[in-house]
Amino acid sequence: MAERPIPGSHASPRRWGRGQLPEISDPYQLRGKIPEPALCPQCGAIFQAGRWKWPEARIDAEKMLCQACRRINDNYPAGIVTLSGAFLGPHKDEILNLVRHQEQTEKSYHPMNRIINVEQSANRIVINTTDIHLPRRIGEACERAFKGRLKVSYDEGAYFVRVDWHRDSAHLGAN
Ligand SMILES: [Zn+2]
Repeated sequence: MAERPIPGSHASPRRWGRGQLPEISDPYQLRGKIPEPALCPQCGAIFQAGRWKWPEARIDAEKMLCQACRRINDNYPAGIVTLSGAFLGPHKDEILNLVRHQEQTEKSYHPMNRIINVEQSANRIVINTTDIHLPRRIGEACERAFKGRLKVSYDEGAYFVRVDWHRDSAHLGAN
């Protein structure tokens, strides 16, 4: 397992704030002098004018792994979405489609906001993400589409969010 690069964030117990974005920057964000443009050899995103974006054309640039790809390679999520409850069983495909659609939309504007992986079991889907914005987006989309209960907790001491969505009733009409 890779050495976790966040100083101090796991040394003390997490403190959770409700629904508020912490004013903490992503420790995976590149620091220091970054060549511009830079090209991530893994996903093809380019770093230009201070941010990562998808290139409109092929460019020649210095190669540098972006923070999303580094989190994917380290399997070190910045966000964890847990979807649970009896509702999941009969609606799994629908829910996974919605999750993927949210990722596609978010990622098209924000290349650093992505799903690392999706873990599935009978009444649970866990989605790990590279950032702290996509989880909330996924949770709110589930709540809009399927009702249920949504809880968003930002870690007050680190760049990390936990989103939990739960629904027991399997019938769409009920709550
Ligand atoms: Zn990349």
